[in-house]
Amino acid sequence: MAEEQSSIQVCVRARPLNPRERHEGHRECVSFDEPTKQVVVTAVDKNTLLQLRGKTALGYAFDRRYGPECTSDSIYDDRVHALVESCFKGYNATVLAYGQTGSGKTHTMSGGQGIHGLVEEGITPRVIRHLFQIVENIQKRQKPGEQIEVTACALELYNEDLLDLSVRSGREELISKNGWDTVRASMGLKLQHTHTHTHGRVVPEVVGAHEKKVSNANELAKFYHDCMVNRSTGSTKLNDRSSRSHAIFTINIHRTIVDVLEEVGSDMKARVRTSDYSSKLHLVDLAGSERVKRSGATGKELKEACNINGGLLALGNVIVALATESEAKKESKKGHIPYRDSKLTRLLQDSLGGNSLTVLISCISPSEMDFEETNNTLKYANRAC
Ligand code: ADP
Ligand code: MG
Repeated sequence: MAEEQSSIQVCVRARPLNPRERHEGHRECVSFDEPTKQVVVTAVDKNTLLQLRGKTALGYAFDRRYGPECTSDSIYDDRVHALVESCFKGYNATVLAYGQTGSGKTHTMSGGQGIHGLVEEGITPRVIRHLFQIVENIQKRQKPGEQIEVTACALELYNEDLLDLSVRSGREELISKNGWDTVRASMGLKLQHTHTHTHGRVVPEVVGAHEKKVSNANELAKFYHDCMVNRSTGSTKLNDRSSRSHAIFTINIHRTIVDVLEEVGSDMKARVRTSDYSSKLHLVDLAGSERVKRSGATGKELKEACNINGGLLALGNVIVALATESEAKKESKKGHIPYRDSKLTRLLQDSLGGNSLTVLISCISPSEMDFEETNNTLKYANRAC
C-alpha cells in the first residue's frame, strides 16, 4: 500500500421518538448544540439529575452528529462512501453500529421504516450497490489478465461462539429440538490467526466459514438478506437473541493483475508477474450495549451479558488505544492495542487500526426513558474521540 493511513471516526446518530413513545408522551432528553458541536443530554427529573451528579445537562462534543431528521443517505455520503472506495486501493475497512437495543443499529446497517413512513435503505444495501458500480467500472477498463473477485461471509458472534449465518438448513429445527447450547457447541466455528509473510501482519481466519462468491449486486444483496433473516428468525424463538449477538457481514475484494508479456529485444518473452490485493469490508451490527442490571439478567443470561459487554468493552478499549496511538505517532510512539481481549476484537484485528479505516456509528434513543443508556453510549463514544 502506498501510504500508511490510520483513521477511526466516531459519530452519533439519534433516532426520532417512535410512535409508541410519542403516544405515551415521552419527553426528549437529547438535543444538539451546533455552536459547541455537542450532543446534550438533559436531566428531566430527580433521578436523571442524580445521574448527572446534580447538573441539569451534560454535553459531549462530536465532530459528526446526526439528528433524528438525518437520513442514512447523508451518513453514507459523509462517512461510508470513502471507505468503500478505499477498499479498491487495498485498505481494509469496518463500519460498526453501537448502542442499546432499540436505538437504531439495525435500522442504520440494514434499513427499515423511516420517519415519514417510507422504507429507508440502510448502509449495507448501499455499500453493495456502490461496490458493484466500482467493480463494473473496473471491469470495463480491464485488460486481459486482470481479474476482480468479490466474496462475502456472514457471521454471528453470540457469547464467544461464532456461527455461520449462511447455514440455514435445519438450524432452527435443531435449536428447538436440542437447545441452543448444543447447537452452538456443534456449529461453532474456530477463529485462528495466521501471520502473513508479505506484510508481517496477523490475519484472522474463521475456519470453515462459508465464503460466497458473488458476481453482481443482486446476488450479494440476496445473500445478505437471507443471512439477516436467519439471524432474526432465530431470535424470536430465543428471546431476542439478535439483540445479544453481533452480526458481522464481511465483503472481500480480491484483485489480481497478471502481466504476461515482456519485450526483450526483438523477442516477446513471457514473464508472469502477479500483483494483487485483498481487502475486506466488515459491516457490523453490534449486540445491544445495555447494562446487565437493566435487563435483569441472572445465571446464564448474566454470563451472556458479561460476554457481550466484554466484547464491547474490548472494542472500546481498542478504539481508544488506536486513537491515542495515532496521536502518539507524531512522536513515533507505538502503544499496545489490546485486540486479544475478546473474540470480537480478534476477529476484526486486521480491519481496525493500522492500514484500515473505521467508522463507529453510536446510535442513541432520545426518549427520557432511555436516559441512562443514552448517556452511557455518549460516554463510550466520547472516549474514542
Ligand atoms: P436496534 O437494532 O438498535 O435494536 P432498531 O434498528 O431495530 O434498533 O430500531 C428500533 C426501532 O426504531 C425500529 O422500529 C426502527 O424502525 C426505529 N428506528 C430506528 N432508527 C430510526 C431512524 N433513524 N428513523 C426512523 N425510525 C428509526
Ligand atoms: Mg437490531
